[in-house]
Amino acid sequence: QVNRSEEMQAARLGLPVVGEEQKIMEAIYNNQTVVIWGATGSGKTTQIPQFLFEAGYGNPDSPNPGMIGVTQPRRVAAVSMAKRVADELGQFSSQVSYQIRFESTATNKTAIKFMTDGILLREIADDFSLSKYSIIVIDEAHERSVNTDILIGMVSRIVDLRKTMSEEDPSVKPLKLVIMSATLRISDFTQNTSLFRQGPPPLVQAEGRQYPVTIHFSRRTHRDYVEEAFRKVSRGHRKLPPGAMLVFLTGQNEIKYLARRLKQTFKPTQRGEVIQAKVQISANDAPLETEDMELGGSEIPTPGNGDDDDSDLEITGLDDDEEDDGFDLDEEAMDSSTRVHILPLYSQLPTKEQMKVFEPPPEGSRLIVLATNVAETSLTIPGIKYVFDCGRAKERQYDLNTGVQSFQIGWISKASANQRAGRAGRTGPGHCYRLYSSALYEGEFAEYTDPEILRTPIEGVVLQMKSMGLHNVINFPFPTPPSRQGLVKAEKLLKNLGALTSNGQVTAIGRSLSTYPLSPRFGKMLHIGHQHGCMPYVIALVAALAVGDLFIPENQIDMASSKEDDGGEEEKVYTNSDRLEDTARENRGKDYARAHRLFSKHDDASDALKFMSAVCAYAYASNPDSFCEKMFLRSKAFKEASQLRRQLTDIVRANNPGLMGPYEARLPEPSGKQVKALKQIVTAGFIDNVAIRADCAPIPPEMPRKPRRAIDVPYLTLLRSRDGPGKELSERAVYVHPSSVLAKFSPTEMPQYIVYSHLQQSSSALVSDQVAKIRM
Ligand code: ADP
Ligand code: MG
Repeated sequence: QVNRSEEMQAARLGLPVVGEEQKIMEAIYNNQTVVIWGATGSGKTTQIPQFLFEAGYGNPDSPNPGMIGVTQPRRVAAVSMAKRVADELGQFSSQVSYQIRFESTATNKTAIKFMTDGILLREIADDFSLSKYSIIVIDEAHERSVNTDILIGMVSRIVDLRKTMSEEDPSVKPLKLVIMSATLRISDFTQNTSLFRQGPPPLVQAEGRQYPVTIHFSRRTHRDYVEEAFRKVSRGHRKLPPGAMLVFLTGQNEIKYLARRLKQTFKPTQRGEVIQAKVQISANDAPLETEDMELGGSEIPTPGNGDDDDSDLEITGLDDDEEDDGFDLDEEAMDSSTRVHILPLYSQLPTKEQMKVFEPPPEGSRLIVLATNVAETSLTIPGIKYVFDCGRAKERQYDLNTGVQSFQIGWISKASANQRAGRAGRTGPGHCYRLYSSALYEGEFAEYTDPEILRTPIEGVVLQMKSMGLHNVINFPFPTPPSRQGLVKAEKLLKNLGALTSNGQVTAIGRSLSTYPLSPRFGKMLHIGHQHGCMPYVIALVAALAVGDLFIPENQIDMASSKEDDGGEEEKVYTNSDRLEDTARENRGKDYARAHRLFSKHDDASDALKFMSAVCAYAYASNPDSFCEKMFLRSKAFKEASQLRRQLTDIVRANNPGLMGPYEARLPEPSGKQVKALKQIVTAGFIDNVAIRADCAPIPPEMPRKPRRAIDVPYLTLLRSRDGPGKELSERAVYVHPSSVLAKFSPTEMPQYIVYSHLQQSSSALVSDQVAKIRM
């Protein structure tokens, strides 16, 4: 029996899922696979694993001795849910663990393991029958991440397999599968006959108690939605009765910026302000929020500069008429001196900071959470009464024709908008202020977002499936199959890398590449990395590229401090006089250039080597955090890259016993020979991503004018179908990204060939022609 505190027990009893325990457990008992649907916040994630635990799952002496495995698409959720469930399980808390890419708390006593979906996929690769588990819970299935989709297909097969195995050998126990979803958009699973050959699984509904939420549309859709959010939230804080606010934005820079504006306007509380000092942003400039996938491509593009032009909307930024903001008040507004307690929430934020949203705000203050869509369904923040929804999200886009990947801010779906609004009605009636018009919602918002598998390169997925023996990828029971074109493209790349034979069989190289939790491109680099003692450098290089987003872009450096969690004290030092501020900024700019030059010392024309140098230099720092601050580096990214170096070293050593010594963080400078080899190794991983300077092409296109800057020098890709004779140069050319080391070259020094990591569509607002940028 679990000893729970009275308070905890009362909170649990209020959850709809707890009222349905018997119905849910009966369904699980009677079926191999069950689908559970319940609104966000109804208690699925925190309660159902506990029901299973109390029913004996995960207990070595029970009929179901294997662990309870619970998957999450997001790391934030895996960690925070494991902590919450551990807290609720009283004296059994040590039996709850989590595992994410760089961290695991699992022990041999673990009964409930929360993990990202990518982790479970890797486990399947090692143990196809998932023998350590007695039940798998796939959570947030409605999010339709690639990994979740594939898991559903695989685990549904493993359930059948374990049934057959247990019939032959009674010491093998069957496996059960529970799929949980916050929306009813699950017909792709339930109606899919290739997925569940035993017939559709039963759907158990946990009645969600949802209080009414009044929706207020804006009369107009403003282009600058961050500004609009600031205006609405400020007015709301002044006029609305007590209650916590949740503001949905698209990325961390918008969040930091808005936090700062609010803090300047209102008195903040003493604790819980994690705000970077001055940040200049445009909406498209914000770094990515999409979590790195544990399978497949982990190259992370840097979004280009630009205004977020939403083209054909009714836009007004100027008129500031007292619009009907929907703040109709029947209760007393909060005392105007009420403090604000502002908390950011996005995936790059350290876990400790993320968990603060679950703590009650200081007495007499208003909690204002500024979040990306992690707060849409993964995490339920207690006490939210007002939601402000910008109507946008940053999403991965991928053009199958051109291979161009981009992270773009686009409209969310109606389903997402309704999820966001629902966050206001968990504890009582609430209000949702949409920063867009109802006409826009009706006219522009899709019903649902496309599953991620239709929006992402799938070479990692294809390779992993093939090396698990699933040769006929086309016949895999995908909830939504990827396009045939996407599969063809993935196979072509895998053949180019030598991972597949010409008739699509996995080669020895392919098998080796699939052992790395990385895109096959990086696997290829590791596979050939032993020459000239390069391996430790290749590992550092791959870790740097795979983690990505290492440097703070120059237009985001702040003259006062680049520390993540300063309280904004430094501002005062510099605001005394403008002149002082200018000098300080100039010096910061010089320091920035110096730092970047230092990392380019091995080779001034390779971004990949620059990334590697930075990661290697980090290992020498006696105080890593202050090193990052001084050198304008993102410390979270460097911590991850270091962990990845260690992890990759272990895998390389296991794959090639005797070829490499133990992990060594501090490497000597690479020799000239090694630098050259490293560049060749990078090329091998990106062999299909080579571009030639346009004037050197076999048939040089007509050049309208002489380029004045390096980033104006046109290149033509050798393989991608962007190319095509007869078309205008402007439609075919690609250019070096301004963040590349090559951007500092003079146009005449630009190399004849370049290897690039990816093509990225620049935002359409500033650049009207079809320009893709390339990096590396
Ligand atoms: P669902 O999975 O159905 O969306 P959850 O199980 O995540 O629901 O959440 C159930 C309740 O538990 C919510 O009211 C949420 O606020 C609360 N909760 C979850 N995690 C924590 C935490 N770390 N601290 C306090 N309350 C939490
Ligand atoms: Mg949940």
